[in-house]
Amino acid sequence: MEKKRIYLSSPTIHGDEQRYVQEAFDTNWVAPLGPNVNAFEKEIAAYTQCGYAAALDSGTAAIHLSLKLLGAGQGDFVFVSDLTFSASCNPIVYENATPVFIDAEPDTWNISPEALRKAFEKYPNPKAVICVHLYGTPAKLDEIMAICEEHHVPLIEDAAESLGSTYKGKHTGTLGKYGIYSFNGNKIITTSGGGMFVSAEEAATKKATFLATQARDPARHYQHSHIGYNYRMSNITAGIGRGQLLHLEEHKARKKAIYEQYREAFADISEITMNPLNPDGDANCWLSCMTIAEGCKITPDMIMDALAEENIETRPIWKPMHMQPVFERCDFIPHNEDGSSVGTDIFNRGMCLPSDIKNTPEDMELIIRIVRGFFR
Ligand SMILES: *Cc1c(COP(=O)(O)O)cnc(C)c1O
Repeated sequence: MEKKRIYLSSPTIHGDEQRYVQEAFDTNWVAPLGPNVNAFEKEIAAYTQCGYAAALDSGTAAIHLSLKLLGAGQGDFVFVSDLTFSASCNPIVYENATPVFIDAEPDTWNISPEALRKAFEKYPNPKAVICVHLYGTPAKLDEIMAICEEHHVPLIEDAAESLGSTYKGKHTGTLGKYGIYSFNGNKIITTSGGGMFVSAEEAATKKATFLATQARDPARHYQHSHIGYNYRMSNITAGIGRGQLLHLEEHKARKKAIYEQYREAFADISEITMNPLNPDGDANCWLSCMTIAEGCKITPDMIMDALAEENIETRPIWKPMHMQPVFERCDFIPHNEDGSSVGTDIFNRGMCLPSDIKNTPEDMELIIRIVRGFFR
């Protein structure tokens, strides 16, 4: 008999989504605009207190438009977290700008303020800094924002993984000049696929929407003074998002409980450390991760293989961008004085644990038993 699949992080649908989608069908709003799109933007803005929001068809599109708004292009450098998913930095290359990868620090696994300072010494005038809140843990935003302000460089927060996480009481994604969220299938809430651009600036948000809808000038005939994109969210997927948003706090509470359960279950195993949380923030705990102590004979691959045999899904830590073949010509600024990379170390010793909020107590027990079995 096929063993039950235990997922890393799969969509959790409640029924409210269907109601909004049905409404869209009933009123024939089956288009990349409509009442669900407008309402979803307002609801995200109200929830995060971001000011203004533009619903797009992906988080990647939101990063791309952020860079467009800042005018990043040929000859510009953009500083970006090194330990992240490639979507954080691909849009830099879409615009022919050059990414400079900034190492992680060990306290939150996010962009290192020390490495960021070093990067500014080497490249004094980058066009932007893109800071990721990895696995839902807020970055050291006070330090990062102070450095950005000192150099008059705008901060883009890639909060794709951290919707619902706060830093000193404020939602991640709302502290920088621009922020982005993702509603991809495995994120804390989903629209099946989608994203959001957010900003305190109404004009910037309007411009993002304009660029996302083919940059049509306000004329009766089809007139264009800019190159536009087809990036708008559909009214159907926005309906899914509205239904999901009603359950975001509940998802966050469940994710945090999963993290806590792993933390307690592995507390007596000195070789295991959970991914860090920022004491200045409240993380959504999107994915629970662990690292294995240096010098331990057990490797993440061994644990991931054993879990896979039980049909349990895991994932390695994101492979740092400076280690990616496609970015091998790009510069990398390490956190450590000796030039070694914190992100590479986390990648080598870490893994993501199943963090699906539909995991039953039995599922959690099974996962924990298998992991613990390695450290007896
Ligand atoms: C998921 C993700 C993105 C991209 O979002 P999409 O909606 O899939 O385009 C960007 N950055 C990070 C860190 C992500 O995890």
